[in-house]
Amino acid sequence: MTNVVVLTLGTALLLIGLYFFVTVIRSKLKFGGKMLVTCPETQEAVGVKVDGKSATLSMLPGQTGLHLSECTRWPERQDCGQTCLAQIENSPDACMVRNVLADWYRNKACVYCRNPFGESHWHDHKPAVRNADGDIVEWADIPVETLPQVLETHSPVCWNCLVAENFRKQHPDLVTDRPVHHH
Ligand SMILES: [Zn+2]
Repeated sequence: MTNVVVLTLGTALLLIGLYFFVTVIRSKLKFGGKMLVTCPETQEAVGVKVDGKSATLSMLPGQTGLHLSECTRWPERQDCGQTCLAQIENSPDACMVRNVLADWYRNKACVYCRNPFGESHWHDHKPAVRNADGDIVEWADIPVETLPQVLETHSPVCWNCLVAENFRKQHPDLVTDRPVHHH
């Protein structure tokens, strides 16, 4: 009899644990990473991050609201009402920076080699952009809140050309022929 109780309890705990684990993963997929929203106060773009714990809790029964863990206007505006969260709650996919970027690249071609991007490989071969001065900038160096402006003024650069151009810049003596980029 005791064995049955222990077994039942154990299974129940395991299932609860599994359910919670899956919920954490699902909440990370839905609300994880950097988000781009319009600040209701300034009507300007800001980069924010949803607090992971509130994201997970929001997907459990009796859900509670989301909170932010980061905003590019913080710490100055730390006490704001976080009303931008409505935008994330309404369409988390559209706010996700990686989706915004993937959408932008999808139908474009590299400004150097003219190869179309299609689906981007964000995990390893991150593309970059070229600014009006002809300098290549990587996304890691671009503040999230400037993203809408960057997408309007910069040209897309594929990962291969990013590597090739960086190499040319660092070793101008080694590159004598006209640049040809292969994929
Ligand atoms: Zn290219």
